[in-house]
Amino acid sequence: MEKLIALFQASVGKHRVITGEDVTNWKSGVLKPVNRLNTEVVVLPETTQQVSEILALCCDRGVSVVPQGGLSGLVEGTDVAKNEVALSLEKMDKIEEIDLKNGTMTVQAGVILQVAQEAAEQAGFLFGLDLGARGSATIGGNISTNAGGNRVIRYGMTRDMVLGLEAVLADGTVVSSMGKLVKDNSGYDLKQLFIGSEGTLGVVTRAVIKLFPKPVSQNVALIGVDDFDSVIHLLHQSKQRLGGNLTAFEVMWQEYFQLVTTEPAPHRAPISQDHSFYVLLESMGANQTEDHLALESVLAKALEDGRVADAALAKNQAEVGAIWAMRDDIFQVARLSVHLVGFDVSLPANEIEEYVKTVDQRLGQLSADYHCLVFGHLGDGNMHLVVTLKSDEASEKYAVEEIVYSELRERGGSISAEHGIGLQKKSFLSYTRSKEEIGLMKTIKRALDPKGVLNPGKIIDS
Ligand SMILES: Cc1cc2nc3c(=O)[nH]c(=O)nc-3n(C[C@H](O)[C@H](O)[C@H](O)COP(=O)(O)OP(=O)(O)OC[C@H]3O[C@@H](n4cnc5c(N)ncnc54)[C@H](O)[C@@H]3O)c2cc1C
Repeated sequence: MEKLIALFQASVGKHRVITGEDVTNWKSGVLKPVNRLNTEVVVLPETTQQVSEILALCCDRGVSVVPQGGLSGLVEGTDVAKNEVALSLEKMDKIEEIDLKNGTMTVQAGVILQVAQEAAEQAGFLFGLDLGARGSATIGGNISTNAGGNRVIRYGMTRDMVLGLEAVLADGTVVSSMGKLVKDNSGYDLKQLFIGSEGTLGVVTRAVIKLFPKPVSQNVALIGVDDFDSVIHLLHQSKQRLGGNLTAFEVMWQEYFQLVTTEPAPHRAPISQDHSFYVLLESMGANQTEDHLALESVLAKALEDGRVADAALAKNQAEVGAIWAMRDDIFQVARLSVHLVGFDVSLPANEIEEYVKTVDQRLGQLSADYHCLVFGHLGDGNMHLVVTLKSDEASEKYAVEEIVYSELRERGGSISAEHGIGLQKKSFLSYTRSKEEIGLMKTIKRALDPKGVLNPGKIIDS
């Protein structure tokens, strides 16, 4: 490794190579224990050319490389073993261009999501992606995980926003497809290989992102609903009556809502805490008065039909922020136990209620101590479950995972709606992907990375 470190220093400069004690003090994941950086060296290139040189040096010597973005990933995708090299994109943090005529932003991979959002806003646009880890997650990490987040219902997943992409293959070859075209069917759409492949097929270095017109209005309501059928009814009504203005349909199950709105949590419930479900409904459009009235009329109709028990419509930006803060404050869950396991599953809408009930029952049979908190992007059929554990024993965690994942199989669900597979969910991949699908993933991996040096062991064993 010593010789390799010297070569890295020659390529990127001494100050861009972190070794020894400094590696431990470098930085940790957003949820600390998730990131495990056991490496001897972190390299921080500033250009695509340097990324290419580092990868070529490692590939020649059969040394593995693990790309690092903002370390907000939740599936152990950035874990680095002792003999592997951590390649951080954090110094590739420039917004290269905002193209006002084409409505695009060209960024380097290390740009922080929130920085990109603010730059888009200043230029009169909206960056369609938004998620709780916006202050740490990078665009390269968002692309590599095909991040979803809060506004998928309107703007789609990250994949839907990437027009152009540059990536470096395991052997150092730079593949640049930095076009701004919405339509381009000239052969395989190669950029899709790198979106959502968690750094196993290439290192994303730059991208062209589609921006959206900045909405003029933002209206948010918090709605108490007492039966799940009415939640789904409200979703359909919102889609129909708000049309393209519907930007979020988030749901919190009662126990999660009570936790985030009860002291010592800083948030106060604007409606009673006794409802079974809480919907966060958001619309964004072109006319504040009309859009406010449209959301009000959805609520009025739902109240009249007896579908909704109670609702609070935010009157100003502070109230909008307060409602979103409750939904985003997953950190409150740590009050229940220091041992937690989180899930990110998706299901067809008609399966969700029964699925959650069955999982809850089966967990209760395992131990009366378990809490299963549920919330998530229900408008996209995506729920986050957080289960409290009694210990950090692997066998206990596995028993809980087995319940949560096995109940998805018969129902046509997915073990990962948006966080990816990493190391954490690898052993359950076959629950939602066929033998043939996994076989093809391995074929693609071998074709692009025959030596298996790029983020090895993540998603699949190749
Ligand atoms: C509070 C909180 C809320 C979250 N909410 C959401 C949510 O709503 N929706 C959602 O989808 N996710 C969510 N996440 C998960 C996480 O923020 C996303 O997965 C995010 O896209 C990861 O970005 P990152 O830069 O932190 O990537 P990292 O965590 O650094 O890396 C993630 C994976 O991508 C690879 N990678 C990183 N950069 C590159 C690159 N340039 N080229 C190739 N591979 C790379 C890594 O090797 C790793 O496999 C949340 C996380 C937290 C902590």
